[in-house]
Parts: sequence; C-alpha cells; structure tokens
Amino acid sequence: MNKIKILFFYFFCIQIAVNAQDYPQGYFRSPLDIPIFLSGNFGEIRSNHFHAGLDMKTESVEGKNIYAVADGYVSRIKIGQGGYGKALYVTHPNGYTSVYAHLQSYEGEIGEYVLKAQYKKESYEIELFPGKNALLITKGDVIALSGNSGGSGGPHLHFELRETDTETPVNPLLFGFDIKDDIKPTIKKIGIYPVPGKGSANGSDNPKLIELSGGNGVYKLGTLKMSGQIAMGLEVLDKLNGSSNRCGVYSIEL
Ligand SMILES: [Zn+2]
Repeated sequence: MNKIKILFFYFFCIQIAVNAQDYPQGYFRSPLDIPIFLSGNFGEIRSNHFHAGLDMKTESVEGKNIYAVADGYVSRIKIGQGGYGKALYVTHPNGYTSVYAHLQSYEGEIGEYVLKAQYKKESYEIELFPGKNALLITKGDVIALSGNSGGSGGPHLHFELRETDTETPVNPLLFGFDIKDDIKPTIKKIGIYPVPGKGSANGSDNPKLIELSGGNGVYKLGTLKMSGQIAMGLEVLDKLNGSSNRCGVYSIEL
C-alpha cells in the first residue's frame, strides 16, 4: 500500500480456509459417544500460546467414555500435576497420532500398565513410551475416562491430532468430525496500525481501534483515509451451534 491513497469502503469476509480434501475424511471416529460441542477450537489465542486442539465439552462432568478414534498403539502416556494432566497418545498407521488430555483415568490394560509403572518408579508423575507392540488399540476401544486433570478449568476432553513424524498439530476439524457450525464469526473491532513515520491514517500515525458495525458476515468500517505502510488487526470471535462458548477463528482472509 506504499504511497497509495485509498478511500476505504470496507467489508470483510471471513472464512475457514479448509482444504479438507488434503486430509482423510471419516477415518477417525469421535472420541466421545455424546454429541460434540466445543468450548475451544484449534488455533485459538491463549495467554501464551495458540490452542493446539479441540476442547470437547463433557456435559460438565467427568467420567465420560473416551474412545480410540482409530486403530493403533499407545505410543506415549504422560501424567503431570499441571499441563495436560493425565494424557494419552495413540499412534495410527495413517501417519497421525491422536492425543487425549485432562483425563480422569486410563481404562483396562492401559490402566494396569500405568499403575505398574507408577509403583515401580514410586511416582505419580510419569512419562512412558510403551512402543509399537505393548498396548495395541482397536478403533472404538474405551481407552480412558474423561476428566479435569492438569491445567484444566473444568471437565472436558482436550483432543488433538498430530502428524506422527513431526508432532505438528493439525486442525481436527479438517478430518470431517460431526460438529455443527453454520454461525458466522463476529468481528468486534479492527485495529489500524500505521507504521510510525511511514504511514498514516486520518492524518496521524497513532494506532486506531475501531468498533465495526454490521454482522452476519458483512461489516462496515466507514471512511478512512490511509496512506503509506499500515498494519491491521482484527478482534474476532466465533460461536458454534449449541454452545455459548467463544471460540477463535482458524484463519482470516482479507
Ligand atoms: Zn484444550
């Protein structure tokens, strides 16, 4: 925008840049047997990080069955006082690892395996890498019960899908889970940040936070005279059907 004077009549369109065709659809089942409602989504801004998974609501209680989303093996078990609390990692043959966190307990063979290791180490906190053949999992096995362990502000399941090789988290919403969301995100404010000495908005390089009018995907900013180098920011929240929680947006295009 350098050296261009622009008279703005802005409207914005925000959407999730989904390339779902790049990801296996329907390979993973739900980790729950209740409808999925989210209290947090992928990429949401947290105080010191971006949220790496989905927070699935568990009807405000602990003890819901947690199911293996696909065949695989338990590749990691980590129990800590903070963080993910009781966490379980299942590696699948298609290149992804599913992560289940803030659990109340581990079920069946996994539970016995953990208890044995805790006694052996004489420690509650533990980290285990059982290996490919120790704890084999079939899609739909109950592997744990949901909880509120670790740094969790209420009962829920924190669920992630990671690329196994790189441990890079991927947006689970790209894998075709049945989560209803036809409510458009809401843009609250736009921030206009002229680069000091190099840009200006309405004649100054002071940052401006402007409340937007409009809704349902169409917003008006009014008239703003800008020149030079300008950075912009948006304050956006996204609600999903059936839940009052404020989630974040995964990506923004302007
Ligand atoms: Zn979470």
